[in-house]
Amino acid sequence: MTRSASGANAPRDPAVSRRRFLAVGGVTVAGLAIIALNPFGGNNDSDSSTPAMAGAPPSPDPDHTFDVVIESGRVMDPATEFDAVAHVGIDGSTVSAIQLAGSDQPRLKGKISINARGLVVAPGFIDILSYAPNPYGIWFKVADGVTTNLGLHGITSTAANFFSSYGSPALKPPTHYGGAFSNPWTRSQLGLGIGDSSSAKQIDALVAACDEDLRQGYIAVDFEPEYTPGVLYDEIKALAEVAKHHNVPATFHARYSDDMSPGTNAEALAEVLKIAQDTGARVHVEHIISTGGTFTMADSLKTLNSARRDGIEVTACMYPYNFWATYLASARFNPGWQERFHISYDKLEIVGTGERLNADTFVKYQKQNALCAAFAIPESDVREALQTPWIMLGSDSILEPGNRNHPRSTGCFARGVGRYVREEKVIDLMSALAKATILPARLTEKGAPIMRRKGRLQRGADADVTIFNPNTLIDRSTVANPGVESVGVEYVVIAGQIVRNPSGNQTSVRPGTPINREAVSA
Ligand SMILES: [Zn+2]
Repeated sequence: MTRSASGANAPRDPAVSRRRFLAVGGVTVAGLAIIALNPFGGNNDSDSSTPAMAGAPPSPDPDHTFDVVIESGRVMDPATEFDAVAHVGIDGSTVSAIQLAGSDQPRLKGKISINARGLVVAPGFIDILSYAPNPYGIWFKVADGVTTNLGLHGITSTAANFFSSYGSPALKPPTHYGGAFSNPWTRSQLGLGIGDSSSAKQIDALVAACDEDLRQGYIAVDFEPEYTPGVLYDEIKALAEVAKHHNVPATFHARYSDDMSPGTNAEALAEVLKIAQDTGARVHVEHIISTGGTFTMADSLKTLNSARRDGIEVTACMYPYNFWATYLASARFNPGWQERFHISYDKLEIVGTGERLNADTFVKYQKQNALCAAFAIPESDVREALQTPWIMLGSDSILEPGNRNHPRSTGCFARGVGRYVREEKVIDLMSALAKATILPARLTEKGAPIMRRKGRLQRGADADVTIFNPNTLIDRSTVANPGVESVGVEYVVIAGQIVRNPSGNQTSVRPGTPINREAVSA
């Protein structure tokens, strides 16, 4: 679980420090030697050796009693690459002290103490590609380590309705919550079918709706041309200009998802990049593992890396699975799907039962529009995307009552770490955590300044903390049974409140706050 000295591909917050701490065999190179290096700057010996937000107040006096103290965990902050055994003090909803273990400062005192010995103490995970935080599925997210649930694949409601619904006592979630303007949903409200193209007047109406939704708090603009093939370039461009105006990303379920002409991954990414070039908007490729990259990951990443070198602000996210899932009546299963996705019936599995299909049962289930998993993502694509430092994790799902969802809805983050760091050693732990914390924070913080305090475990940051056992963390949901909590997330702290402890989720504790475009003070 240690970070290799050569694996330095996690991005850093240059404003904080470029110093890295190495933990060797679980024993941290800590103590006076590191304090003497004084890498983080600060107000006293204790503060100077641990990460802090710019402008954060100094740690409280030694006799201070914190609301919560997290003791003796392996504190990891991907933004600074801080990695050392330390104690974390929380007051209210803010991290107010981080103290190296073994320092000669008096031990932090807390009204509540969490013993994190042997556990990793990380910034709370940010699920960039979730949906509305329904009161059932959101608790599985908590068990998967998520503290901020962002529906950047589009929310099927206006922003005003979304924030008033989830701000109500009945629906208030444990996690922080935000979302994106949905182009497909909004155009459906105007009476546009999925194959219909918009008139100039309808584009004006969409632009007005988008502008209003961003003013009301949405933090991205979502497009799904694969599902709404009638959407033409001019419509996307007009809405991306609204995204640019409000400095939020344009997020894309891109137009194509395979390598067969006509309509290839390369064409899909070209459209996304052209939008960025023509409007100046930041663009984000949703689940590149299943749309825009499948079978062509090396070429797709080459295209995007080249665009990034040219100064285009493009990012992507992925769920760490080698199968996708969608409804059998969707356009994905139009005739020719076997050729397009390089599979046959036997690679299709009904969600909730695990039944594998044949030519006869395919017809039966397509009539029912059943949700179906397709084992159609090469494992090499998964690994290549994971090893790309700027690609973040995003679940692309939240469990709904009835448990008819891809298992990524409940296991995305535990699997990213448990399977691909510990078991398969595809990436190191710090890089995996960056994909769940600082990368999503950076994607959203320009349009939503409240995100500047999230995705970081630093003095002055929001007290959203995920504490997990690196030796046991793993997903347990399957296609047959997607409704199983991940294991290994021992504590989840959100806004300073303990939402999950080793006995499970604390469902009466729901401190979630809206993630909207309002600037935070200070
Ligand atoms: Zn999608």
